[in-house]
Amino acid sequence: MSEASTEQLLTACREKTLGILGGGQLGRMFVQAAQAMGFQTVVLCADQNEPAAQISDAVMCASYLDHKALAQLAACCLCVTTEFENVPADSLAFLADPARHVRVTPSAQAVRIAQDRTLEKAHIKASGIPTAPYRVMDSQAALEQALAGEHRLADDFYPAILKTSRMGYDGKGQITVQNAAQLAAAWAQLAHVSCVLERRLPLAAECSVLLARQVEPSGQERVICWPVQHNVHVDGILATTHVAQQGTALQPLLDQALTEAAQTIARTLNYEGVLCVEFFILTDGSWVVNEIAPRPHNSGHVTMDGSTLSQFEAQVRVAAGLPLAMPRQHSSVVMVNLLGDVWFDRAQSQQPREPDWARVLALGTAQVGVHLHLYGKHEARRGRKMGHINITATTQEQAWQTAQSIQQLLQ
Ligand code: ADP
Ligand code: MG
Repeated sequence: MSEASTEQLLTACREKTLGILGGGQLGRMFVQAAQAMGFQTVVLCADQNEPAAQISDAVMCASYLDHKALAQLAACCLCVTTEFENVPADSLAFLADPARHVRVTPSAQAVRIAQDRTLEKAHIKASGIPTAPYRVMDSQAALEQALAGEHRLADDFYPAILKTSRMGYDGKGQITVQNAAQLAAAWAQLAHVSCVLERRLPLAAECSVLLARQVEPSGQERVICWPVQHNVHVDGILATTHVAQQGTALQPLLDQALTEAAQTIARTLNYEGVLCVEFFILTDGSWVVNEIAPRPHNSGHVTMDGSTLSQFEAQVRVAAGLPLAMPRQHSSVVMVNLLGDVWFDRAQSQQPREPDWARVLALGTAQVGVHLHLYGKHEARRGRKMGHINITATTQEQAWQTAQSIQQLLQ
């Protein structure tokens, strides 16, 4: 879209225009939901070819720190939201200046906390919610204290995981530390940036709770939660998520506890928008919060085909100040993430090729829905999120059977 037509379009109706910082796949699915509801969108990102930019009504290519571009964005939008955790919080604060009359969801303060593991863990603990035992590793003094003296970490604290406080994703920026002797070298390998050292816990399962929260001008809050999602990670990256149809949860008491914890975190952040809270379920049956994401989440893609409300539609509704209704999970869903790996043959692994989607889609039946979502990324790379498939059915077993057939086909 040319600059001139972008400007014309955008000055036309601010009330029907939603802005988003970030051009990735989560932004693309937000744009799709916004357009379906009659909004036009402006994506601010680095490059015209990014997944969200490809389909947005208008695109502004600029740095997230460019105040002139941010002011322009605010001038043409009813609301600005974001799709990635590492959006500069100061830019959200700049946009939220009351003089700009633009709604910003989530707030700069909530994002500032969620994007820094040290602040995030402190906030979760202060909200009365358990986390893995951890130690902040942000100075030579902190390192020395962990290794010797009265605050020395006990031997049974290890194995532990050293994680950078900022900018980590998909397991990047993490090093497993087997014992105290390895700690100094691991921290050096992470260039002595601010980190948290976290005890590696014996996991029985990983879950997430997705919610959306909006606060009316009167201060009245509205929170909706989707059913607990069960996540399987491979090599630190989400591989599958599954959710049971409403009313068929295996552990309703656990689900209730996780849902309440997620709501507490949202409330203590005075959060507005879509929030995802990741949990570890431990082998002894207890649980802790792992981390939070101030945006729609990969595990929440199950809502796109299995629920009466998708996470992206909810993000649009909060952004636009439209009502939220409690979602109902009408189908059991298994989501299979499509990483770039399946674009490569195991035998001849050099040249990527498009997987045979026709064979995948042919597995759909009247009982089992097969829903393909691709993100428009031009280049497949190993470990890169290229799309996902939602498999919907009346029972988990049916959905899993088809999911496994699809995984076999793609391998
Ligand atoms: P990211 O921000 O990259 O998602 P996470 O902290 O969520 O990083 O870690 C990615 C995955 O690594 C988790 O989903 C989990 O499988 C594993 N993991 C992380 N921390 C721990 C821990 N303390 N104990 C056990 N497994 C962990
Ligand atoms: Mg994570």
